[in-house]
Amino acid sequence: MRRLAIASWVLFAGLSTVFLLSCSQPSESESAAEPSRGQGLAEAPPEIPVIPKAPPSVAEGEVWIPPMPAMEEISPPPDWAPSGVETPPMPLTLLRLPRTNITRARYPAIDFHVHGRRLNTPQAYEELVDLLDRIGVGAIVNLNGGTGEELDAVLEAGQAYSDRVANFVTFSHEGINEPGWSERFAAEMERGFQAGALGLKVSKRLGLTAKNPDGSFIQADDPRLDPIWEMAAKHDKPVMIHLSDSVGRYYPIGPKNERFEAGLWHQPGDTSGNYFQSGPSREVIEQALLNMHAKHPRTRFVNAHMSMMYYDPEKVAHLLDTYPNADVEISAAVQDLGRAPRLWREFFIKYQDRILMGSDGSQNREPEDFWTPHWRFLETFDEYFYHPAQVRTPGGSPGHGRWNISGIGLPDEVLRKVYYENALRHLPSLRQSIERQLAERH
Ligand SMILES: [Zn+2]
Repeated sequence: MRRLAIASWVLFAGLSTVFLLSCSQPSESESAAEPSRGQGLAEAPPEIPVIPKAPPSVAEGEVWIPPMPAMEEISPPPDWAPSGVETPPMPLTLLRLPRTNITRARYPAIDFHVHGRRLNTPQAYEELVDLLDRIGVGAIVNLNGGTGEELDAVLEAGQAYSDRVANFVTFSHEGINEPGWSERFAAEMERGFQAGALGLKVSKRLGLTAKNPDGSFIQADDPRLDPIWEMAAKHDKPVMIHLSDSVGRYYPIGPKNERFEAGLWHQPGDTSGNYFQSGPSREVIEQALLNMHAKHPRTRFVNAHMSMMYYDPEKVAHLLDTYPNADVEISAAVQDLGRAPRLWREFFIKYQDRILMGSDGSQNREPEDFWTPHWRFLETFDEYFYHPAQVRTPGGSPGHGRWNISGIGLPDEVLRKVYYENALRHLPSLRQSIERQLAERH
């Protein structure tokens, strides 16, 4: 316990990364092996300060950024186990705060992150377009185009709706360990593009699930993927890519983990989607993401969920500053961005040409619960409202964060870029449709 207390003091006192790594690693690997459970109940949990103190080198009044918590700071006490009780819903606020009456996006936005369900009949498209009209969305990217016959059916039924729905080929790593996979998948992509698909979607399974025969995880900079990224460049199509995952999923399960508090892993034995003991490290995935951008400068990557680095604005800034072929998209990150609205407002203004609107929605989402908070976040200065990811699970869990958010009230010219101008760079064929819809609104 004494050693841990000293280690955590050093952790907070030393801002130097090298120092930080060399101090935190031994205790981290110990807890990864067996989270100090075997040591019995006699040992009290380590005393770890809740509020990190600035190191002595930081002067009074100066600004600093505290380091990420160490794994043992999030670890529950040795004898802790989840009770099986679901997280209660957020209490209704009693504060009487101003609310902007808003139901539709102010401009015909392009929602760059939608999972269309069974878009293989005109009727399915009609229902989707009805929804888009209700929420004020000009067009969407359907990331679930699939491949093969599934893709053909989606593209065929979607021909009459190509002014509202851009269908993407869906990446699959199936067969990646077999010879000739790269050429085969690249050829299928090319066939999809020629049949009308407007981009490629890659899910987080790349990096987190896909494995080599030796059991190691396949990352985005794997040479077998080079022909895939290059095929997108050859046809001047964007790659919408989701790598990594919410940062809390890399930390131990316990009440100090934000994602546990929001409702994940409450049933005893449930560790689904938690990578603390079983997954690759966040750092490996993030490095592969950077390498991929560096290796393929002609390929345009739209990084879903603020590249999953929403937890550290400096990392997102580094990605955008270093790689002109990188853009980011905001879906499933709004609940975190809205926790620091002043900081992110400045960020959005600075990187106004690089950020795209997205929701991660599908046809079954309720417009007011789901899309309206996106509009409220981007368009208004409303404070302390329900975020779009406070999805109710059957047990009442908020899912993505047990807190409320505030709006960033983007200036009009920035809002237009985030809503449609930046997306039109990737999907120029939608320009006529968006301009027509803009004209119709005035
Ligand atoms: Zn998604």
